[in-house]
Formats: sequence, structure tokens, C-alpha cells
Amino acid sequence: MRKNIVAGNWKMNLNYEEGVSLFSEIVNMVKDEVIGTQDVVVCSPAIHLSSLGKLASTSSNVAIGAQNIHQAESGAYTGEISASQVKSIGASHVILGHSERRAYFGETDELLAEKVNAALKHNLVPIFCIGETKDERESERFFDVIKAQLEKGLFHLSNEEFTNVVLAYEPVWAIGTGLTASPEQAQEVHAFIRETVANQYDQEIADNTTILYGGSCNPSNAGTLFSQPDIDGGLIGGASLKSRDFLEIVK
Ligand code: PGA
Repeated sequence: MRKNIVAGNWKMNLNYEEGVSLFSEIVNMVKDEVIGTQDVVVCSPAIHLSSLGKLASTSSNVAIGAQNIHQAESGAYTGEISASQVKSIGASHVILGHSERRAYFGETDELLAEKVNAALKHNLVPIFCIGETKDERESERFFDVIKAQLEKGLFHLSNEEFTNVVLAYEPVWAIGTGLTASPEQAQEVHAFIRETVANQYDQEIADNTTILYGGSCNPSNAGTLFSQPDIDGGLIGGASLKSRDFLEIVK
């Protein structure tokens, strides 16, 4: 059975103390709730990771992740952080292919395929983001765009490697805009993603793949979105910066 996951993406928010304090609140709140079989992950800016790693190790309920890694093992890449460095502080996940990295930092599908390889080599679970822009949705090209992102970024992986990947469908037009995909729109794409994975790998792998929804997900819409048959949780931006909202979504 596939896992349900709620992952927070703090993006470039919160200074050190704010981050540590929010994470401590989340850890405590999650501890007090029965959260069943789902995983909770917090993807913080790199400067917080080592401290959050120490706090997380005392609670088995909340995992931590990075928001990016460099594709190389190590070396002269000023300002970058490697997969093994992220792994060494106790992180288990890394967001890759977020539309903000694709748009503002020129990350191509080919580069992302290399980053996915680096993550898997060091046992980090890639939370691999895919999704169409507003133009691509309006011109009804979104299925092609999403299929190409999957093919170029992930479909070089073997069956075994692919089972370690989490997918996140994040329509670019819904990120940080307050516009959420309707449950029907999201379900339609999630079912398409699962079918595309089944065609490339097999039905069992597709059925076991966790596919998160991201884009203006909040406590009032999370319930209906997550109750769709192919939506297995969420990647949460803005609403992950408030412990109560994040916990509501987890619940
Ligand atoms: P949002 O961001 O929830 O603020 O729309 C989601 C994301 O970018 O992962």
C-alpha cells in the first residue's frame, strides 16, 4: 500500500530561531495527534537542517528534507550543497523539480534527472514536482507537459529505483496564488500520472507510488483534495508556515 504524506515546503522563509521554534511546535503537535499511517515531512532552508535533524531524531513522527541539492558528489561548487551533506545531518527527503527552481534557476529536465540520481545514490527520497503553467492549462497541453516532465526527469530509473520516488503534482498557476485546482481537476491529472507510471513500469509500482498535490492547499480544501482516490497527501507551501494550519492539514 502506498504511503500518505504531508510535506511542508518552507521555501526561503523564517530565520534560524523562527524555524527552530516552528519545527518544535510541529513536532509537539504531531506527537499529540494520532496520525495513523501517514508521514509528515518538513523541508526547510538549508541553514535550519542540522538543528531540525537533531530535534527530529527525538521524534520518529516528523522527517526533514532539503529543498534542493547539487548533482555532483562534492568539489568546487561554491554555494551549493550535496546529497551526501544533506543526508549526513539526518534528512530523508529532498524536493526536486519545483517550478520555482525550474523557472528562476533554469533547472532543466536533464539537470533534474542528474539530481534525482544523486539523491537516490545517497538514499534521499526525491519529492519530484511536475505541473503545467497557466498557458499550458488553458491551451490544454497539460497532459503532454506532465508526461514529458516524467519521461525526461524520471523514466531513466530502473523499477527498483523508481519505487523510492514521491511525486508531487503542482499546477504552477495554483502555487502561492490562492487558486487551487478543483478536486476534479487534480484527480484527473493524478490518475493520468498514475497511468503514465503504470505504462512505463507496471501497475503494482504505479499503485504504490505516492502522488502529492501542491498549490494553495490549506485547511479548508485539504480534506476534499486528499479524499480523491489518486491524491495521497500534499506538498504545502504558505500554510506550512503556521503550525496550526499545517497540523489541520495533517489531520
Ligand atoms: P503554496 O506552495 O502552498 O504556497 O501554493 C506550494 C509549493 O510551492 O510547494
